[in-house]
Amino acid sequence: MKQYPLARPSIGPEEIKAVTETLKSGVLSLGPKTTRFEKDFAKKNKTKFAVAVNSGTSGLHLAMRAAGIGAGDEVITSAFSFVASANCIMYVGAKPVFIDIDPVTYNLDPSKIEAAITKKTKAILVVHIFGQSADMGAIVKIAKKHKLKIIEDACESIGATHQGQLTGTFGESAVFAFYPNKQMTTGEGGMIVTSQPQVAAFCRSLANQGRGANMSWLDHQYLGYNYRLDEMSAALGIVQLKRLNSLIKKRRQVAAWYNQLLAKYPELVSYPRTAKGNTHTWFVYVVELAKGLDRDRVIIDLAKRGVASKPYFPSIHLFSFYRETFGYKPGAFPISEAKSKQTLALPFYIDLNKKDVQHIVSTLVMVLKKYGKSSSK
Ligand SMILES: *Cc1c(COP(=O)(O)O)cnc(C)c1O
Repeated sequence: MKQYPLARPSIGPEEIKAVTETLKSGVLSLGPKTTRFEKDFAKKNKTKFAVAVNSGTSGLHLAMRAAGIGAGDEVITSAFSFVASANCIMYVGAKPVFIDIDPVTYNLDPSKIEAAITKKTKAILVVHIFGQSADMGAIVKIAKKHKLKIIEDACESIGATHQGQLTGTFGESAVFAFYPNKQMTTGEGGMIVTSQPQVAAFCRSLANQGRGANMSWLDHQYLGYNYRLDEMSAALGIVQLKRLNSLIKKRRQVAAWYNQLLAKYPELVSYPRTAKGNTHTWFVYVVELAKGLDRDRVIIDLAKRGVASKPYFPSIHLFSFYRETFGYKPGAFPISEAKSKQTLALPFYIDLNKKDVQHIVSTLVMVLKKYGKSSSK
């Protein structure tokens, strides 16, 4: 039986050659590959500066610090995301203030932002979920009106545009991530982008133990970290970035096959929609099961048939750490919670061909029909 994992990176001979050459070069950190990767990335994402880091999460942490966010501050963000987008606000001692999402795109709903603003609000941390931009036109307007900073968690949206503008270019800074399930990978890794030289310099310093701008190891101006990306990862990133357009094109093809096949079963499953004005680069392929379908049983049954699947995402405010810290209870963000109960990520990577997608969809439909009439939880 053919096994379909949730995600699989695309690593070719060019990547293997680049990493091997880097290993042979003897320079494994703080070298030319990282510098080159940063330059290439800044150019590709049409930003002035790019600072490589060892994960998307560490990038978000530094973006928060560079924005001057700290104890007593509040940052508005989405309840429906990967946990790191809220954790980074906690790292600097500030409070994440969640808001609910748009039911079609699962992105933060701009019409809910103003009600969440208080005297303590400093910034909006926008997450571009699943590979498409949040409604940046509306969000930028609100941020300007209330003098709030925008930080973009673009970890899932590399290459995606809103009204022709790339995600990662709307805010003071933005962060991309290169974990193996993302559109491109460096193993672990991330990138902070910004058009502001002082933000770039501060992030660069903090990622490298807070050492001074003259790159002397002798003085540490700030409380820094070791968030450096190593040279092997950067070498991998250079090649993957070169392939990015083609990687995204293939993801779009796989998503189009899924969309097309799933459109025939509206009573069982709804397939993801791309908002008007957006281009989608497909971090994951997430469907929403019809109400009453027992997702947990579906996941187990699919797994038995070689098809991996996963709830995507649980709402952050209902994780035990957030419940215990802030006293959140179910019902706080009903749209996010309803999506969290019914959304399911399906196998999604560029090596899937049309036959694979047909097989996965027919397996899913068969399993959904089986549990369609079963009691829901
Ligand atoms: C992947 C991701 C991150 C960062 O993840 P790392 O594993 O730390 O690179 C942050 N936010 C979101 C929304 C993500 O999907």
